[in-house]
Amino acid sequence: MLENRVALITGASRGIGREIALQMAGAGADLALMMTHESEQALSLQQTVQQMGRRCALYACDVSDPDAVNAAVAGLVKEFGRLDILVNNAGITRDKLLIGMTEEDFTRVLDVNLKGTYHTVRASIRTFLRAGYGRIINIASVVGMMGNAGQVNYAASKAGVIGLTKSIAREYAAKGITANAIAPGYIDTDMTAAMNDAAREALLSGIPVRRAGTPADVARVAVFLADEASSYITGEVIRVDGGLYI
Ligand code: NDP
Repeated sequence: MLENRVALITGASRGIGREIALQMAGAGADLALMMTHESEQALSLQQTVQQMGRRCALYACDVSDPDAVNAAVAGLVKEFGRLDILVNNAGITRDKLLIGMTEEDFTRVLDVNLKGTYHTVRASIRTFLRAGYGRIINIASVVGMMGNAGQVNYAASKAGVIGLTKSIAREYAAKGITANAIAPGYIDTDMTAAMNDAAREALLSGIPVRRAGTPADVARVAVFLADEASSYITGEVIRVDGGLYI
């Protein structure tokens, strides 16, 4: 399904990004994986992907740094000779009620979640245009559609990702490049493990499917959108939230 494709996945060391990497490798793609540093988890993922018979390179790179992203993308295009799929999954939270949120809390979340997405797309778009082919998949959040108390920074960044995705979709639809967003709800990862039990219970009780999502639930949609066969879907936002935001 993804044979002979090269995918760049940001935030791939853990959680949702890691599962997207494993599923894309399983579907036949070679992988360039980006994360802040080459952690044990990142190195063990690289080994697993290589054992699956796929090429896999790690790029330690802060997505909020445009020069570092440009250098990493140029490096991977040189190493792999192509780039077909870009998954913008790197993301952070710095939850606080608005009244206690600092300028730094707000800016950092925007810099990583929104500007990081912009940086990787900017760095990759010429490669996609030259090939006349590209699949851009941005991991947003239902919080970007519904808002959430304690997350004005995060919700704004994810709403921004949705606007960015739709604009890219319009700009490049005629060039063989699609851009879509996935909006997960509550997914069991390190990010949500930081929540206290009461907050988790309150959230889970609002999910009609009555369970937390798994990284695999999200990764399956990413693989679908990455496929050549999804060429007639662009500018879409697919919720993977068990009905949390119907
Ligand atoms: P995790 O916290 O488990 O993993 C975050 C990943 O992002 C790590 O690989 C981390 O790398 C990487 N990362 C963080 N900051 C940067 C940076 N500045 N530059 C490069 N990489 C970075 O997150 P999840 O798997 O839970 O979330 C993945 C995405 O899904 C995020 O965009 C998140 O907002 C979104 N999402 C998650 C939901 C959930 O319920 N979990 C719900 C909705 C959306 P490192 O290991 O090096 O720190």
